Amino acid sequence: MPSITKNSTLKEYQQFVQTVYGLPNDLHFELQDLLNNVQRFAMRGLKGIRKKNQEKCLTNLLITSSFFMSTLNRLHIDIEDELWHRFPYICSYCARQPCQCKDSKPAQRKAITPDKAKKPNTIADFHIMFEKIYPSASRTLEHAGVHMAEEVGELVEAFLAYRGEHTKIHFNNVTLEAADLLSCFFGVLNSLSIQLNDALSDFYTNNCHVCHHAPCSCEYRFVINFKS
Ligand SMILES: [Zn+2]
Ligand SMILES: [Zn+2]
Repeated sequence: MPSITKNSTLKEYQQFVQTVYGLPNDLHFELQDLLNNVQRFAMRGLKGIRKKNQEKCLTNLLITSSFFMSTLNRLHIDIEDELWHRFPYICSYCARQPCQCKDSKPAQRKAITPDKAKKPNTIADFHIMFEKIYPSASRTLEHAGVHMAEEVGELVEAFLAYRGEHTKIHFNNVTLEAADLLSCFFGVLNSLSIQLNDALSDFYTNNCHVCHHAPCSCEYRFVINFKS
């Protein structure tokens, strides 16, 4: 039985999503539909922030992350490696830790050479890394949420460009924007003092969080009308 534990890696979470949701996704969802659900649940998560309802926020963000992983699985993007190369213990724009972009936003990204010895292993390790690069004490939860919303939009823009052009360079942009969105996702959870690995291991104790099957057997009509 597939499972997520407090020590799981991002690769293991991505594989878990493939095992539980890969089949129904292939049967019921086009790639654009998967991305639509990333947007839909991310916005519902932001509503939880506005309403100061942490449970609503978290549930919707966990579902967001699941559709996000489904989208990446469809595109055959290994997000753990991409995330590390984009954020190797330093900000991807200013190449500093903690990020100094607020003081002097660089005109263009600085070249980064990752120090392999520092690569986070588990999801918990990525939390620690992002807290060091983007300390939650340096901004509000709402600020982190707005930044995440920006990155959802940029992922969609990159995807639309790729869908039109189908070039390697456009595909790479999708990958980079996916890494940026995931970094903001960690940022929001750090602002909430929630660890994704802990939340996932509680949410996915037994396969799909609703039907508890692998592969998920939830009806399409139920999934598209699901609200939390
Ligand atoms: Zn920065
Ligand atoms: Zn299900």
